[in-house]
Amino acid sequence: MNPLPRHDHYIAGEWTAPVDGGYFASVNPATAEPWYEAARGTAPDVDRAVRAARTAFEDPRWRDLSQTRRGRLLRNLGDLIGEHAERLARTETLDNGKLLREMRAQLAGLPEYFYYYAGLADKIQGEVIPGASRELLNYTLREPVGVVGAITPWNSPLLLTATKLAPALAAGNTVVVKPSEHTSASLLALAPLFEEAGFPPGVVNVVTGYGTEAGAPLTEHEAVAKVTFTGSSGTGRRIARTCADRLIGCTLELGGKSPNIIFPDADLGSAAMGVIAGIFAAAGQTCVAGSRVLVHREAYDEVLERVTTRAATIRVGDPLEETTELGPLALAEQLEKVESYVELGQAEGGKVVCGGRRPDTGLDGYFYSPTVFTGTDNGMRICQEEIFGPVATVMPFGSEEEALAIANDSAYGLAAGVWTRDVNRVHRMAGRLEAGTVWTNTYRSMSPMSPRAGFKTSGMGTEHGTEVIREYTRLKSVWINTSEEPAGDPFILRS
Ligand code: NAD
Repeated sequence: MNPLPRHDHYIAGEWTAPVDGGYFASVNPATAEPWYEAARGTAPDVDRAVRAARTAFEDPRWRDLSQTRRGRLLRNLGDLIGEHAERLARTETLDNGKLLREMRAQLAGLPEYFYYYAGLADKIQGEVIPGASRELLNYTLREPVGVVGAITPWNSPLLLTATKLAPALAAGNTVVVKPSEHTSASLLALAPLFEEAGFPPGVVNVVTGYGTEAGAPLTEHEAVAKVTFTGSSGTGRRIARTCADRLIGCTLELGGKSPNIIFPDADLGSAAMGVIAGIFAAAGQTCVAGSRVLVHREAYDEVLERVTTRAATIRVGDPLEETTELGPLALAEQLEKVESYVELGQAEGGKVVCGGRRPDTGLDGYFYSPTVFTGTDNGMRICQEEIFGPVATVMPFGSEEEALAIANDSAYGLAAGVWTRDVNRVHRMAGRLEAGTVWTNTYRSMSPMSPRAGFKTSGMGTEHGTEVIREYTRLKSVWINTSEEPAGDPFILRS
């Protein structure tokens, strides 16, 4: 048997073998076969990468580059991603099992993240503060923070890297990225494009490996000035504690248990498709999965019928096939987790009305059928805990107040969907739903221009939009005394 292809870390523009010499295999979830090995990073590898990033941060080739030129490099990177989109999309599908159709669409949109922040790069600026005295000139500088440590999950590896990389670079930082141990391949395939785009070596570095071995040392490294993380709430809490100890900032994009709420005046056909998109697209492995479907009693039977009819005909299989609608779960552990939640839901009194089993696909991968529960109560664990798989609970409600109470009865607050034709209700719901994103008559819409934040245990800080620049900059206040007069009383504060 041929040995698997091996990939090293990408540090200071060079492929760099791991200090400890260790590698680990990554598995294609559609076949359950390992298909490449990546360097198993440890603290010394992280140290190398962070030092390279710090050196690059102070290198005049990066530090003194005009903001417009920085934007130009981001634009180049966006163009290169566009040219390599097909290869990158295929790599992601082989690594995490998401549909090639979906990854193609994601990759086609990915350059926009770099274009958006390319345009913003030379609009990052301080301001002149009006002072009490004409002689004191006071202005602010919005400066990059330094080396940013970025840690990402496996469900949308490049998209979730781009949301961090593009604004961090636009603001003039340098970055070390630690991708998920389950999906290192696409970022490694992207890595050489950084220098091709014109970024000096060391501005972007990639260290692969496990969370505790490579991720934790990145958050602990004394030269890392900021951590940006997307992943589970448990890991996010750990990272936040480390950052609190180090008194550095962190941005956290975490899990969810989002409600998708349907009122009887909605276009019920579209709403049912919104439910399917919310929970079965990407096999439910999205942070914003609409896993709690709340339907007004008057529309409950019709919506349930529509959802289960469509769910039962979803084509599960090879994610590389054009006609497939649902690929495998990304990991064997994820499949086991989904199965155990389905058992738990039944033990709690819920009823599986669709799916609830491993389908026969003829492949050895980690497939699970689209699953719908009825008879659940929002207090049950399957309604409170993130399953991160194709499992929906469909629950009835009788009034807007009741829908809001159920929707907000969650530790999470990432997203919510509302289906109605009543614009007044839309405003009321949008105002009172405890979620960072509220979609109306649509689900899973996304744009680099639109801010994304998780409320409650779904996160801290913002990604996307202009606001994110604050996450990657620090504000300095500069005072200049322009007076020709001799210094006054030294014991009096000047303002
Ligand atoms: P995870 O928390 O297990 O891992 C995420 C990353 O953190 C990986 O790179 C992992 O190696 C690393 N990591 C693990 N332990 C670490 C530690 N102690 N220190 C530093 N790094 C560590 O999450 P996952 O299973 O890869 O991803 C799924 C989760 O991500 C879900 O909860 C999902 O909701 C969430 N997610 C959130 C968003 C969002 O935008 N809010 C988007 C996608 C996924």
